[in-house]
Amino acid sequence: MAAGYHSVDLARFALRPGEGRRLDLDVDPGKLDLGGQQYAVRGNAVDARLDLSRTAAGYAIRMRFIAHIDGPCMRCLADAELPIEIDAREVDQPSTADEELTSPYITDDELQLAEWAHDALALALPIQLLCRPDCRGLCPVCGASLNDVDPAEHRHEAEPDPRWEKLRELKLDQ
Ligand SMILES: [Zn+2]
Ligand SMILES: [Zn+2]
Repeated sequence: MAAGYHSVDLARFALRPGEGRRLDLDVDPGKLDLGGQQYAVRGNAVDARLDLSRTAAGYAIRMRFIAHIDGPCMRCLADAELPIEIDAREVDQPSTADEELTSPYITDDELQLAEWAHDALALALPIQLLCRPDCRGLCPVCGASLNDVDPAEHRHEAEPDPRWEKLRELKLDQ
């Protein structure tokens, strides 16, 4: 099979109104922006399930897939994995002037699958990639991951205030 479907020719299935077709396709949704970083989905592809339905005047399409994004946690730099589940629908009735019923991803029976998958993922992404929602990040003093330690026990002595140092010297001189 090819590396990934970019678009699908819907006319190829010669569906009549009321008929449907289920397709399982590899799709590369391209690079995604997350917290200012660019990420690709794991394996550069998702297994997308498409349910096509021919309506009286066009198409109704449902797209489902699970994408995995891997990368460093933005707080503690540990390996993080983000699974995102997509369930999106598009309706295209080109004969109507109603924009709600005209899909930007379907033109002349050609479904822009990769573009749709990309946009659906972009909408579903959280703001940050984290190893876990409550990641405690790194200790600002020693850089240890605070997820690995008991925060009640992980403490550092406060830096001595240089003014107190001076005072101590004075006292010693007396
Ligand atoms: Zn983390
Ligand atoms: Zn520390």
